[in-house]
Amino acid sequence: MVDKNKVKKLALRLGVDLVGFGPARKMDAAPAGHRATDFLPDAETIISAAIRINYSAVEGLPKTRREYVNANDGARTILNEALVRVSGYLEEQGYSAIPFLQGTDRELMMGDLSLKHAAVVAGIGEFGLNNLVLTPQFGPRVLLGAVVTSAPIKPDPPLKIQLCDRCGACLKACPTGALKDPKGYNREKGWTIDKHRCFHYIYEVLEPRYGHYSCGLCIKACPVGKNRSHKLAQKTP
Ligand code: SF4
Ligand code: SF4
Repeated sequence: MVDKNKVKKLALRLGVDLVGFGPARKMDAAPAGHRATDFLPDAETIISAAIRINYSAVEGLPKTRREYVNANDGARTILNEALVRVSGYLEEQGYSAIPFLQGTDRELMMGDLSLKHAAVVAGIGEFGLNNLVLTPQFGPRVLLGAVVTSAPIKPDPPLKIQLCDRCGACLKACPTGALKDPKGYNREKGWTIDKHRCFHYIYEVLEPRYGHYSCGLCIKACPVGKNRSHKLAQKTP
């Protein structure tokens, strides 16, 4: 059994803000082909990690759109490096470990592994109506990554508190109407947004001018974690 606190401390020291551990076989809510065992058949544990994004650039949207994209790129570099280093540590202990970094299949608007479902399984957060993972500390103002490993590590409990109160602020803030019918919303499974509208706005309207992941308005609108400071980052055990 790998020492969970050692892995957690390493990830936090490398700059991530939140780390959670979940059972790799409990990803049934994720779409087929995007679960941990689809990539590592003997996977035992999902390690989900999150780094908070720059609050000030989010608050300044849409005026600070370029700064928001640049700040996210910087945070993504730190997160990705931490995930690679954690995977390396686990491999040195004799286990398989694959880092799943930020980056999406553009058509599907999701990564190989569903990083959002991985975060929910690892107890980091829950789905909000904006179809993003809300964390108690930072709401949806985080970037997510994960490591899937064959190392058995004691899982964290699922998040107990309910964060999304269905206030509807994200639905109102969406400029494309992509978040329009929350029927079928589930805090563990998420729900289906109109990805075509979101995709068109992000990749065809905004990206040529600002770069990828450049909308952020459904993040800005969410009151969960809005007034929290970075001092609330997860404490080192
Ligand atoms: S990223 Fe923008 S377009 Fe996409 S759902 Fe959020 S607010 Fe709507
Ligand atoms: S803005 Fe309101 S409805 Fe949307 S995810 Fe946040 S809490 Fe939920």
